[in-house]
Amino acid sequence: MNQDWRGSLIRHLLLLSGACLLLGLITGEYAWVLVLGLAGYLGWHLQQLLRLHKWLRTREGDEAPPEGYGLWGEVLDSIYHLQRRDQKVRGRLQAVIDRVQESTAALKDAVIMLDRDGNLEWWNIAAEKLLGLKTPQDSGQQITNLLRDPRFIDYFDNHNYNEPLELPSPVNNHLRLQFHITRYGNREHLMLVRDITRLHQLEQMRKDFVANVSHELRTPLTVISGYLETLLDNVENVNPRWLRALQQMQQQGGRMQNLLNDLLLLAKLEATDYPSDNQPVAVDLLLLSIKNDALALSGERHHRISLEVDPHLKLKGSETELRSAFSNLVFNAVKYTPDEGEIHVRWWSDEQGAHLSVQDTGLGIEAKHLPRLTERFYRVDSSRASNTGGTGLGLAIVKHVLLRHRAHLDIISHLGKGSTFTCHFPPLQMVRRGQ
Ligand code: ADP
Repeated sequence: MNQDWRGSLIRHLLLLSGACLLLGLITGEYAWVLVLGLAGYLGWHLQQLLRLHKWLRTREGDEAPPEGYGLWGEVLDSIYHLQRRDQKVRGRLQAVIDRVQESTAALKDAVIMLDRDGNLEWWNIAAEKLLGLKTPQDSGQQITNLLRDPRFIDYFDNHNYNEPLELPSPVNNHLRLQFHITRYGNREHLMLVRDITRLHQLEQMRKDFVANVSHELRTPLTVISGYLETLLDNVENVNPRWLRALQQMQQQGGRMQNLLNDLLLLAKLEATDYPSDNQPVAVDLLLLSIKNDALALSGERHHRISLEVDPHLKLKGSETELRSAFSNLVFNAVKYTPDEGEIHVRWWSDEQGAHLSVQDTGLGIEAKHLPRLTERFYRVDSSRASNTGGTGLGLAIVKHVLLRHRAHLDIISHLGKGSTFTCHFPPLQMVRRGQ
């Protein structure tokens, strides 16, 4: 092709010079004929250039470039081929975009694209059904103006999207939705919303089942324990051969009662997201009473329990829930610390919030167990736990209570040296006495 246009250019120039020479020979005015010839040739090129310029400015859609001759024919042909290639690539890309949009639009999960400030850019049909977004009115709207649940606004503004958020649908209270947000590109947001109603119902069924079974078992167990107590109260009438069996039955009955109480407490904690009351709790007094109970539990084992508390620092929340969480931590320290060991309980605040730590000089826990410690019935060593009469639910209760108070648990432990369990509460849960 290159050779072609070069050849035609040389041909044209040779032809032009030949014609000029001939005319010069006839007229004897070589210079003028050459000037006129070159001016004509230049004029023709200018005319072609103007045609191309006009086409470039006025073409509509994929209109082909005008026809041309010689060098201009080659140029216009190349433009035409480029245009065709571009059309094909565009067609292919459009098909890919159409397929992606079609498949995303057909998804049962809602897909919503938001810009870096949280304004709506694009969403699929499922987003209209699950969240009630309206096309096209809502385009460009701030997402937090449309999804006004305070938990969503908190979650969105916090920019910490590691864990998904679960909420009822704003258009249908019976639908349970799970929100996942991912940042991409230029800090834009991609929000995926799944309908997890079925999963939520199954989870609810599991919770109800455990709560109902625990509740139903309570009455028969109370009756059995009551009779055992009466029998043991009249120990002189009991056949000595049965005495040990009855004592063991009473002990195991007590364990079962503790287990049922813990299961019921967990079920109650799981039933709602927030504690029923949100009054300032005097943590210093609460810890003092827990310390006395812990000393009673320690009994002959003579643990040394010390308290270091800020008496002006209160915590917003439910006193009963906080009592069970804190006493679980302190009682665990007593259970898993050898006789005469030291237990130090500290309650203080700093700019990060309020903190409660329970430090012991006990058995300690291997690092591999720490991530699973707050799971229900997770035990580091079953023989160790069964001696202490624990239910395996204590730390699960602690975790739930803390979650409900926007707090989290931190565990540091060294095998054979002791453990420190620290609860961290955010500043908004703190109240200074007198406030
Ligand atoms: P349990 O009722 O068995 O004490 P928890 O949920 O309270 O159940 O604790 C889970 C496990 O964590 C316990 O079985 C125990 O092995 C370990 N653990 C809890 N607290 C301590 C502690 N202060 N020191 C050493 N191990 C502990």
